[in-house]
Amino acid sequence: MVTPPRGGVRAVTFDLDFTLWDLTDVIRRADERQYDFLASVCPTVAERYRADDLHALRMAVYEERPDLRHDVTALRIEVLRRLGAECGFDDEAGQRAFEIFLDARHEVTLYEDTIPLLDSLREHYVVGAMTNGNADVGRIGLSHHFDFALSAIDVGAAKPDRIIFEAACHRAGVPAHQIVHVGDEPGSDVVGAARYGMVPVWLNRAREPWPADLEPVEHIELDSLEALGALLEDWRCAGHEPRV
Ligand SMILES: [Mg+2]
Repeated sequence: MVTPPRGGVRAVTFDLDFTLWDLTDVIRRADERQYDFLASVCPTVAERYRADDLHALRMAVYEERPDLRHDVTALRIEVLRRLGAECGFDDEAGQRAFEIFLDARHEVTLYEDTIPLLDSLREHYVVGAMTNGNADVGRIGLSHHFDFALSAIDVGAAKPDRIIFEAACHRAGVPAHQIVHVGDEPGSDVVGAARYGMVPVWLNRAREPWPADLEPVEHIELDSLEALGALLEDWRCAGHEPRV
């Protein structure tokens, strides 16, 4: 049972993909758009690869380059560089292909409870974003809801590494135990936040069981952001003061 932190909650940080918006099919569509562009500027790509094959190519680079695992952008650029060297398109076309992917990657659908919750938070808490991906809250029109946004790319380490949680703590200017971190991934969000001493909230919209291969950690489990708003309000009403 997780109880309200000593001194109250002063900051709330959010994972992005599948926490604030649905990413189902978004990456697949973005990959297809990138592939269509590459096939149009370089027919050899279409002769040698189907759109699905590029995923395997990315996984191969992921295995080969542990130094790029926290940086999904650099990983994708490296895949495009190798593909260009093999099939005969230049870095400029590769960069353009990446931009096409990135544009499409931001065509996401916010969950219905995202804006109502974010609207209710700024007056009470420091609000931050922490992502392992290359989503940008600015491109989705949400920057005004956040005091800061961190990515694994900026920080050089991905959740659950303590470095990114430590960076969030610094940016929030709040001790870890007064930060609620909300995310959909048990391993990176919940375990990472718990180990760093934040209040971990597992946003489990599909009500999945805790993964059998993951050590259990004390956390709060909620099935909506609306429930998160209610919990924070309860804690405020119970006299646990937010930031001043
Ligand atoms: Mg997520």
